[in-house]
Amino acid sequence: MKKRPAFPAQLDLGQDHPAPTPRMAVTRVQASGQAGKGAVAPARPPPVVPSRPPRVPPAAATKVDAVPTGLGLDSAQVRSRMVRKLLEQGIEDAVVLKAMETIERHRFVDSALVNQAYEDTSLPIGLGQTISKPNVVARMLALLRQGHNLHVDGKLGRVLEIGTGCGYQAALLSAMSKEVYSIERLRGLHEKARENLRHLRAANLHLLFGDGMLGYAQGAPYGGIIAAAGGDEVPDAWIDQLAVGGRLVAPLVTAQGQQALLVLDKTPQGVQRQWLEAVHFVPLKSGVA
Ligand code: SAH
Repeated sequence: MKKRPAFPAQLDLGQDHPAPTPRMAVTRVQASGQAGKGAVAPARPPPVVPSRPPRVPPAAATKVDAVPTGLGLDSAQVRSRMVRKLLEQGIEDAVVLKAMETIERHRFVDSALVNQAYEDTSLPIGLGQTISKPNVVARMLALLRQGHNLHVDGKLGRVLEIGTGCGYQAALLSAMSKEVYSIERLRGLHEKARENLRHLRAANLHLLFGDGMLGYAQGAPYGGIIAAAGGDEVPDAWIDQLAVGGRLVAPLVTAQGQQALLVLDKTPQGVQRQWLEAVHFVPLKSGVA
């Protein structure tokens, strides 16, 4: 049997696709359903007998089809309008705008909220958590891409997201990165994100259930790390797992007790920090629930 990775919380590489790198192969040692507490649940091997619903279960398809089409919420025009607004607000990164035009935000919010999916507002996603407003998501992704961490073809390389939530930002990241690892500490949201993301069939996106404060060493080093929850300090694990030349974008509590965006670049000379505008993110918490 292969040695288990030393990630203490319960992890679940919740996508059906095998992890593509030799580094990640270590996470394929056992099926997630067999993982006990404290064990690592890696990507499922291709099941002989499917133990879970088909990739696009009829129920999920019905739910998506049930989006009120009369409102045009599932149409490309509504997203185009959102993107034009983002551009007016100063988000100029064409790759970010393209991803936001492509990924259907309404698929990630509860059906009662779909009519607000493309408004510039944060929305509840359950379990007391919220999805950030499009402007903040776009701003953070643009900042991440302004680091020195770009892959040759203009995509980000390996990215770690802390706080999968409903999976919306993970979907955007998967469209603009080579490889994405996204960790969520609330099982309910981890499962919800898996459902929400199923339609994308993004082979480069790996959903993990665990405490993101520990990062995910098996996927490191990361060209980019992005957090969707704000703590009092940047966990050492994130800096350790960031590649030299990599960039971290995270909300963080400042000395004044307010949250602000922090951009941290790991250079050969050391770590450089820039504080940016005030933000309001849910708190970064340790452990899983
Ligand atoms: N990017 C998400 C935003 C989710 S809100 C989206 O697009 O929907 C932030 C999320 O961070 C919450 O779901 C919260 O449970 C999660 N979170 C907080 N602390 C965490 C931690 N230590 N590890 C992993 N996830 C964490």
